[in-house]
Amino acid sequence: MKLSEFFSQYADNSSCKLFFKQKKEEAGVICSTCGSAHHYWIEKESRWRCKNCGKGTSLKTGTVMENSNLDYKVWLWALYLMSLTKKGFSALEMQRLIGHSRYEPIWLLMQKIRISMGHRDDSYQLDAFIEMDEGFFEGHRKKEEACPGAKPVKELDRQVKAIVAVSAAPITNQEEQKKGKPGSKPKYLKMSVVSGLNKVEVSREAEKMIKKSATVLTDGRRCYAGLQDICRVHEVIVVKDKTEVSKVFPWVHTAISNAKKKLLGLHHHVKDEYMQNYLSEFCYKFNRRYFGEKLFDRLLITVMAKSWYQPYSK
Ligand SMILES: [Zn+2]
Repeated sequence: MKLSEFFSQYADNSSCKLFFKQKKEEAGVICSTCGSAHHYWIEKESRWRCKNCGKGTSLKTGTVMENSNLDYKVWLWALYLMSLTKKGFSALEMQRLIGHSRYEPIWLLMQKIRISMGHRDDSYQLDAFIEMDEGFFEGHRKKEEACPGAKPVKELDRQVKAIVAVSAAPITNQEEQKKGKPGSKPKYLKMSVVSGLNKVEVSREAEKMIKKSATVLTDGRRCYAGLQDICRVHEVIVVKDKTEVSKVFPWVHTAISNAKKKLLGLHHHVKDEYMQNYLSEFCYKFNRRYFGEKLFDRLLITVMAKSWYQPYSK
């Protein structure tokens, strides 16, 4: 749908509300008390009532919009805009585009959408051939106060550590093999923030990220030592010449550097505790980079799903 078509079709809150209602009905409204799928709609209350037991289910229940006072229009416009470009928007840009008076609710809305993107990707594991490495992203945290009530609270820049994994498929077609280019194509990407680069932390995240049947390539860092028990093959390559690293780990390095550029260019002073959300958005969009306009529909399914706030069971 073209930009102009979208905004003329969903120009007011009632058309946006109707859109969400239709989406939820397509997905199926299930009564949380008796499990019945038979309901009738009460327009005044914006909720369905179960024909069997009388339990009400509101339009926002179980979706990313639950507990939000923002208009349906704000949610729908934000979802559309967040799926529109690869680059994305900052919360300030989004606030201006939507024309909302306050920054904080828009910032929170975007964080919730990013969380749901991350949880959606948690339902998939990487397989086949995987490059894995650690990424360091510029985070920001408040300096702990020297004594209670001390002001002003200073902020410190610091690096947030993340484990980054990219699955890649070898290029078998000789015509596609270009001189000096990697002999593989990237498929899917995962980034997971860790508090430390040690064996326990890295093994725990790797177990969530990759399938047991995978072959994983890493450098010689000790934190990857547990991988031999997690995947089928753990290949270690120690690269002494730093200029050669990008040749041995081409896709994971490209992913880290692109994510850094995006964070620097768009979101300034990302606080440590929210870094995972920004990385989740980056991965979600990368993993669906060929979806085009379908990304909006996919994102709607993600945020309307009952499990938007909790990982899907594997
Ligand atoms: Zn019921």
